[in-house]
Amino acid sequence: MSDVIRLSAADLAAELAAGQISSVEATRAHLDRIAAVDGDVHAFLHVSDHALEVAADIDRRRAAGEQLGELAGVPLAIKDVLVTTDMPSTSGSKILEGFRSPYDATPVARSRGAGLVPLGKTNMDEFAMGSSTEHSAYGPTHNPWDLDRIPGGSGGGSAAAVAAFEAPLALGSDTGGSIRQPAHVTGTVGVKPTYGGVSRYGSIALASSLDQVGPVARTVLDAALLHDVIGGHDPHDATSLTDAWPSFAAAAREGASGEVLKGLRVGVIRELPDSGFQAGVSASFRASLALLEAHGAEIVEISAPHFEYGVAAYYLILPAEASSNLAKFDSVRFGLRVDVPGGTVEDVMARSRDIGFGDEVKRRIILGTYALSAGYYDAYYGSAQKVRTLIQRDFDAAFAGVDVIATPTAPTTAFRLGEQLDDPLQMYLNDVTTIPVNLAGVPGISIPSGLAEEDGLPVGIQFIAPAREDARLYRVGAALEALLVDSWGGPLLDRAPTLRQAQGPEEGNL
Ligand code: GLN
Repeated sequence: MSDVIRLSAADLAAELAAGQISSVEATRAHLDRIAAVDGDVHAFLHVSDHALEVAADIDRRRAAGEQLGELAGVPLAIKDVLVTTDMPSTSGSKILEGFRSPYDATPVARSRGAGLVPLGKTNMDEFAMGSSTEHSAYGPTHNPWDLDRIPGGSGGGSAAAVAAFEAPLALGSDTGGSIRQPAHVTGTVGVKPTYGGVSRYGSIALASSLDQVGPVARTVLDAALLHDVIGGHDPHDATSLTDAWPSFAAAAREGASGEVLKGLRVGVIRELPDSGFQAGVSASFRASLALLEAHGAEIVEISAPHFEYGVAAYYLILPAEASSNLAKFDSVRFGLRVDVPGGTVEDVMARSRDIGFGDEVKRRIILGTYALSAGYYDAYYGSAQKVRTLIQRDFDAAFAGVDVIATPTAPTTAFRLGEQLDDPLQMYLNDVTTIPVNLAGVPGISIPSGLAEEDGLPVGIQFIAPAREDARLYRVGAALEALLVDSWGGPLLDRAPTLRQAQGPEEGNL
């Protein structure tokens, strides 16, 4: 494994700027890595056939003295939920197999504009529905820590690509946890920005009031650098905030000194049940809290009585919005069309949707259509919206007394492929601590907090901040990350048996 692929995006960017390495060399190293390991990991659905040309162009522009963005020349993986003109965009679904978008999603366009080099499109649960990437129509992604285990979902491809050193950075989307939960199970960093902080233009919609695009990385600073590139107002997205955002990279750099922890009030939710959390996940969470406390933070118990109803409310609001968003896949305008000889247009539509959508997507369309139907609307969708407001109020009240809230990112470490596939409810419960964050529209970050003692697999800690205070998450995340990496004697990923740098040719190594 060459050293180039193990560099953080920030360090690679510095080497590129200093002329110590070219973007072509960096890009080739990542393409070689993809060729070597992606047969096992399956993080990518499509690998770009012109990444080297894009990289060469950046190298030429740099040589010509052009002023380039900080991340110019750094390779990037893109979740297949984001549409791209030069590569297919399927959202993990058969109904969009081979689909080419006439435009780039704004986060993609901004990444290209900043000189990042798209490597390819990453695997995901179909239409971002799931927590394991097993609902992809193109087969699952495997967790680089243990190929028999799930990489999380729906953005398992982006997280696995970054964890397996196939890409230093990736774009993801998070509707109920799809950036943060994969970060938790793969030992990477994932951020769900404040709702409206990053444009959703060109992000194939799952649930429009919950979806947010965000960065996936191996360090907090790298996530911040990518967030700086993709964030900010976009007139193409009616829900995009017009705020002038501070530099998140500056916040991460400031946080790394650890000073920010002095006097920081960290809220811990009293009602979060201890049961349901794997012992090693709870232990890692408590150890992180103790570390924060030892460095000057104050741990404050807060009450968020409606937090636990998040999953129930979400599984009414999400299917309702999803069933409406997915109605456009009608086999007429784009996507798969299955002919029915002698059939009507309705027959063709029904047959195409039957063949084009997987089971989980159908389940949610049925649920959503039911929840929105006349006579049930108030009882289901209306009630769920009220619960959503109560959760938002819980957060507002909590943030009157604390600066951030901390939770474990997910209840368990990576489970085995197939283990929860036939149990949708169990699968839904993976997002018990991430979903309320989307319902409230506030930002959340997951950073690696350690390994669970019982299985040696990674665990993440989630920090939540008030809306628009994303910079606070980068400060606090970078501060804890610095302390933890110091205590481990190096990044958590170095401790993955499959990913160790000086590895032999043993079975199972990547
Ligand atoms: N796992 C959750 C779901 O299945 C979250 C998905 C997401 O954030 N896109 O809906």
